[in-house]
Amino acid sequence: MCYHNILRRLFGAAIVWLGIFATVLAAQQQSATGPRSKTQVVLLGTGSPFPDPDRSGPATAIVVNGSAYLVDFGAGVVRRAKAAMFDKGIAALEPTNLTVAFVTHLHSDHTVGYPDLIFTPWVMGRKVPLEVYGPKGIKAMTDHILAAWQADIEERVSTETWQPNNYRDTCKVNVHEISSGVIYKDANVTVTAFPTKHAFPETYGYRFDTADRSIVISGDTNPTQATIDACHGCDVLIHEAQTLEWLAKRPDFQPYAAKYHTNTTQLAELASKAKPHLLIIYHASIVLRPALRPQASSPEQVLKEVLSGYAGEVVVGRDLDVY
Ligand SMILES: [Zn+2]
Ligand SMILES: [Zn+2]
Repeated sequence: MCYHNILRRLFGAAIVWLGIFATVLAAQQQSATGPRSKTQVVLLGTGSPFPDPDRSGPATAIVVNGSAYLVDFGAGVVRRAKAAMFDKGIAALEPTNLTVAFVTHLHSDHTVGYPDLIFTPWVMGRKVPLEVYGPKGIKAMTDHILAAWQADIEERVSTETWQPNNYRDTCKVNVHEISSGVIYKDANVTVTAFPTKHAFPETYGYRFDTADRSIVISGDTNPTQATIDACHGCDVLIHEAQTLEWLAKRPDFQPYAAKYHTNTTQLAELASKAKPHLLIIYHASIVLRPALRPQASSPEQVLKEVLSGYAGEVVVGRDLDVY
């Protein structure tokens, strides 16, 4: 009897330790690959026009139920997507699965990856045309890119005998020039566009609503009430920011930034009103290696400036982070 009691206690203790071990393992897993929310935010590119080898051009993926929705396609977008697929195990980001994209505005740092997004997955076997949503002008940009690569398209269609019969069709792009409001809806997600204030007459931010999360992405913008309203307690707000430290060193850039971008003080004010559960800062004047660009700020400086006026949870995004 006594022997049985000891065995039972030992067995109970083993179960408890196994439980603790599993919890620790789960926590490690979570920090390595992001939260276990069904909807994932994958930062493909958190950089700016500056050619920083640590940060690709602006591009973000919202991944839900095995489907990916891109916002912006800066330099390196397809290769970062492949890295997210291969290194982080996110199958939706296999480049041939990239079929839906939204663009915030037409600046080259947000769109220079467009030909890459059209043609690389096409040649690799994308099964359907690309669907692209964005402001007025995205149709003309698309037509010009397809025209620029016309010789390549004709050559590939006529010589690549291993490709499927509909190869000529799958390089096409269905372009949707949008206005504010709900612009996209499928079984996974509803996407709402809202106006932002940037250097073009028409620029947009986007809100994604899925079964378990609400995510707002600003694109490039001056602080606006529309961004605050779009978030309004959202789960994740992804917003640009320029540091005061950087702006102080760039008086030539200050008037432009004051009209078309958001500084860290303004972002702190905006986030205090928008109240996201998590604020992710991207597209900022940040470098990880100071020698690359002495004027730029460190991620720590960005955090310090924002946290001086904001009490919520905030992170500085890095390429291939998953939230
Ligand atoms: Zn811009
Ligand atoms: Zn930009």
